[in-house]
Amino acid sequence: MTKTYDVIIIGGSYAGLSAGLQLARARRKVLVIDEGLRRNRFASHSHGFITQDGVDPSVIAADARSQLMEYSTVDWVSGRAETVQRNGLTTFGQVLFDVMVEASRYQSRRIILALGVRDVLPEIQGLKERWGKSVFHCPYCHGYELNQGKIGVIAGSALSMHHALMLPDWGPTTLLLNQAFTPDADQLAALAARGVVLERGPVKSITGHADVRLLDGSCLSFEGLFALAPFEITSQIPQQLGLDMEESPLGSIIRTDAMKETSVPGVFACGDAARPMASIALAVADGNLAGVNAHRSLMFGMKSGE
Ligand code: FAD
Ligand code: MG
Repeated sequence: MTKTYDVIIIGGSYAGLSAGLQLARARRKVLVIDEGLRRNRFASHSHGFITQDGVDPSVIAADARSQLMEYSTVDWVSGRAETVQRNGLTTFGQVLFDVMVEASRYQSRRIILALGVRDVLPEIQGLKERWGKSVFHCPYCHGYELNQGKIGVIAGSALSMHHALMLPDWGPTTLLLNQAFTPDADQLAALAARGVVLERGPVKSITGHADVRLLDGSCLSFEGLFALAPFEITSQIPQQLGLDMEESPLGSIIRTDAMKETSVPGVFACGDAARPMASIALAVADGNLAGVNAHRSLMFGMKSGE
């Protein structure tokens, strides 16, 4: 028999767990479906989230999960939600969503998407293995630990200007252009004003801790590297539901209103999949909003009146 929940949360990391906690505390029946591929699973330390600074990010997620599962109205399914379908109204005037995980069907009156995103890493030999260890994207997450040592920014496009102009606050910075773009006069002046050194030679590979091998055979050693990585939502669920999307500089995200409801009534979205700026703190705050507002719509009805 198909089990029916008040809310199904797809994605059981920081955003989804935070949403679930609000709903569990309202004694609502909640199912969390999670395939366990957190965006920060490559890093062994997480920074910038109060009370958890420096903690292993998998420990933060595991603690949150075990606290959530203390609530008797919460179920957990490990796996990938493949499809979500909106099935119109029941005889009680309630909208129902069908969620499929392999051959199992689950139903709910509301959906919260906390899908996160996947970083699409530049194709540079040696970069992937060092992602989250000595190659990063977020200066606030990992800049401080470089102890003001030398920092290399590997350009991916003109958007890398942003990294290059920020990072001198964390250490002496070299912008490795790697033929990704050609700075104009204004950009060159801005880089010079921040003391950024330019390296125009193409990058061949990354070796050692953060040693950049250039095509001409030379090698530049850094304390840490920053690279621009576009991101993508890995699931087709937003398309299946016909959700409005929004373009951010590095990828497409789910459009929500201030209450974290999407363009489709009854579907909420939170965390990295639904915001241009990413952090655990922001994902947790977003999840809190999505959880509370999904609950509110169960109590008082949806925007569409259903
Ligand atoms: P995620 O944590 O990415 O979780 C999404 C979950 O949804 C995953 O478990 C995924 O498997 C699941 N999922 C997706 N689709 C489906 C589906 N169809 N069915 C079932 N499950 C699904 N932030 C900080 O604040 N501090 C840091 O120090 C920090 N370091 C970082 C280091 C690295 C290398 C990276 C890449 C990011 C870092 N971040 C850091 C950012 C942080 O990882 C994200 O902001 C945060 O993980 C977002 O949480 P989320 O819940 O939205 O998504
Ligand atoms: Mg339970």
